[in-house]
Amino acid sequence: MDKKIRNKPIILVVDDAPVNVKVLTAALRQDYIIKVAVNGLDALASAKSEPYPDLILLDVMMPEMDGYEVLRLLKENPATSRIPVIFVTAKASAIDEEAGLNLGAIDYITKPISIPVTRARVRNHVALKLQADLLEELSLIDPLTQIPNRRQMDENLENEWKKALRSGKPLSILMIDIDYFKGYNDHYGHGAGDECLCRVAEALSNGVSRSGDMVARYGGEEFAVILPETDLQSALLIAERLRQLVLGLNLPHAASRLEMRVTVSIGCATMDSATGITKAAELLQKADSMLYQAKKMGRNQVYAG
Ligand code: GH3
Ligand code: MG
Ligand code: MG
Repeated sequence: MDKKIRNKPIILVVDDAPVNVKVLTAALRQDYIIKVAVNGLDALASAKSEPYPDLILLDVMMPEMDGYEVLRLLKENPATSRIPVIFVTAKASAIDEEAGLNLGAIDYITKPISIPVTRARVRNHVALKLQADLLEELSLIDPLTQIPNRRQMDENLENEWKKALRSGKPLSILMIDIDYFKGYNDHYGHGAGDECLCRVAEALSNGVSRSGDMVARYGGEEFAVILPETDLQSALLIAERLRQLVLGLNLPHAASRLEMRVTVSIGCATMDSATGITKAAELLQKADSMLYQAKKMGRNQVYAG
């Protein structure tokens, strides 16, 4: 369901005891759309499927997979890591609370639940979540790496495209993708994967120097570089320098089949009077298919055709 057309925020209630589900649902259904899961696996599946929850109320004690484990897995997956989770628990010693909050729970509600307190906490946390969503939608900066996001890159590319058409100067694009990054996450964990993305983003940003150049996080483990007034030959030199800068970080990558350290593949495309490219989107597409070729040729390399 599209966020813009639904009117009520969505709450996922996770509890193995039907009576608790009933109480929570009754307390919240007037103001929210309620999804229910009765065990940890259900909860993980439901958190990942549409309509996505804006908040999760998570029982701690459940057979098979307890709430702590569910929370850990939610935080591990980028698709669910930013959904706020409130623990609902009878176990409320300070030590339990600390453990849950350290895992990334945003709050605690103790059983037997007070309906007015539950409503108030849910309302506050949902308001913060919706505000964070809005800020993210308006943002031009990628929250993880702190470099421009895809939105800013797309806008900038349109501008540079028009400038290049007016001036008759070339415009180049690089598409950069980390090699075997899925294996990196699987081997070192998602937190380390995030850290790696930040290091690569920083190295790439430091690797370009002209004022109009822009390095952006294009998606997951993909980066794009806009190089105005740069012909193919110069773009290839810059791409090779960026590839070596990442290599020079010497980030261990035991799951890579290449170098045992983190590497990138880079596709390069240029718009100039010789190429038949007529739209900015086509230039991006070309860089992307060059990246695909670089992967196919063995990764850890620059390709242009
Ligand atoms: P290839 O060499 O062909 O590019 O292989 P790959 O494993 O890098 O490519 P694939 O597309 O299979 O996997 C990309 C991985 O990137 C999977 C996904 O979990 C991870 N990823 C995407 N975004 C993030 C993120 O924000 N943080 C972390 N830690 N991992 C991410
Ligand atoms: Mg990759
Ligand atoms: Mg990829």
